[in-house]
Amino acid sequence: MADRYAVFGNPIAHSKSPLIHAAFARQTAQDLTYEAILAPLDGFADSIGQFVQSGGRGANVTVPFKEEAFRLAHMLTERAAKAGAVNTLVFADDKITGDNTDGAGLVHDIRDNHGYLITDKRILLMGAGGAARGVILPLLAESPISLTVANRTVEKAAALRDHFNNITASSYQTLAGQSFDLIINATSSGLSGELPPLPAGIFAEGALAYDMMYGRETPFMAFARRHVAQVADGLGMLVEQAAEAFYVWRGVRPQTAPVIAQLRG
Ligand code: NDP
Repeated sequence: MADRYAVFGNPIAHSKSPLIHAAFARQTAQDLTYEAILAPLDGFADSIGQFVQSGGRGANVTVPFKEEAFRLAHMLTERAAKAGAVNTLVFADDKITGDNTDGAGLVHDIRDNHGYLITDKRILLMGAGGAARGVILPLLAESPISLTVANRTVEKAAALRDHFNNITASSYQTLAGQSFDLIINATSSGLSGELPPLPAGIFAEGALAYDMMYGRETPFMAFARRHVAQVADGLGMLVEQAAEAFYVWRGVRPQTAPVIAQLRG
């Protein structure tokens, strides 16, 4: 019988993960199934329990359950522990291991797919929610010159500064007069068609503007196109975090470029 995997979220119907993992499985000749499961908002742990009982080997976790998955896991990888959120679960020997592949996915996409070296760059990360938190450690591992986290609610950025070493917390107002080489939008502002209040001159020459959202042109992407050469959306990150999870489960690293091309097509 094929090994079972799934993504759990609420809502979940929009998820591209089943398509991505089916493509990875075909490409690497792995015998597995991958489905999308809608967990009730108050029933995530039960849904996971039933899936494990029925032979589930691993799962992805998406909004709004990443913090709950963190608490549910018996063991955590270092990157999950530091992120405080889990997007990948491994079920083995009656134990649940929690991992977080979002940050690795972002770094792979920026560095390998877009060919943009993060080392020695000044990074501005907008947002201080789960997505921002998950990518800080992998970004710092690339040895940037600096990493500034700006958030509308500045106390949340300050909390991240206190949790991670070597980052600066900022409001949008205090960014005036500064410029950055890599600006990453990890806010959900694009969902409501809004632009975080970035001051003019925020993009250094040759800067890359990266929006974690995908599937639509956000106000941030449009703003960046008017100021910088390179703009990227989060579709590559989505596929790369999936590839990292696939590697965690199967020990095989799928090729991501054909799957990204397929989804863009
Ligand atoms: P959270 O709800 O945890 O955090 C939302 C963040 O956005 C907060 O920092 C919030 O600020 C900020 N924000 C919301 N609206 C605005 C606005 N109008 N102006 C400025 N800041 C705003 O969400 P997540 O961190 O889980 O997700 C963020 C985004 O990242 C989502 O769009 C998600 O789809 C995307 N994502 C993409 C992934 C991929 O693979 N491509 C993976 C994970 C996430 P405040 O604290 O002040 O409320």
